[in-house]
Amino acid sequence: MKIVCVGRNYAEHAAELANPVPVEPLIFMKPDSALLHLDHPFVIPEWTDDCQYEVELIVRIERVARWVDPEFAHRCYAEVGLGIDFTARDVQRRLKAAGHPWERAKAFDGSAIRPEHWTALKELGGDVQNLDFQLEKNGEVVQSGNTSDMLFSVDELISHVSRICTLKTGDLLYTGTPAGVGPVASGDNLRGLLCGRPQFSLNVL
Ligand code: ZN
Repeated sequence: MKIVCVGRNYAEHAAELANPVPVEPLIFMKPDSALLHLDHPFVIPEWTDDCQYEVELIVRIERVARWVDPEFAHRCYAEVGLGIDFTARDVQRRLKAAGHPWERAKAFDGSAIRPEHWTALKELGGDVQNLDFQLEKNGEVVQSGNTSDMLFSVDELISHVSRICTLKTGDLLYTGTPAGVGPVASGDNLRGLLCGRPQFSLNVL
């Protein structure tokens, strides 16, 4: 499986990092080795001084998608969840300044958090563009979003990606983070909530 991620898909987050709003989806990937086993804590890599959380809605692809039009993209998924796209922000800044790819800052082991269980979209009301979510750090809400604020909808993203690379069953689409990203430190606990439902509880080493 592969993990496809979307950058700058919420206007307020693009602004907080002083990035322009994209005119087409900005996509990058993480390898399957980036997925953290949920029994394990998240270990901050020793080569970054600014490791940041980005809470994101994840869509689990459940059928092969290639050259899918947006109006048919909803057939490609039925389950969603919340996760984190961990980012070594200091490393990413250096790579961006040099015009280099981001993998060094985004694709490291443990950098992709997924929910403990996937939730049927139907159970959440069925509208993927109207889902509330929050990230709590040590019991305090640090990120709060609603998928209605996405610049590119889930269906547009799937259509776009499916014209570049085939999406396969089990692939994960991380749909971008709202404003409020910030650093993690050893001892932190991160908890994700999707429509009020607990998604993960993660300890940082
Ligand atoms: Zn992200």
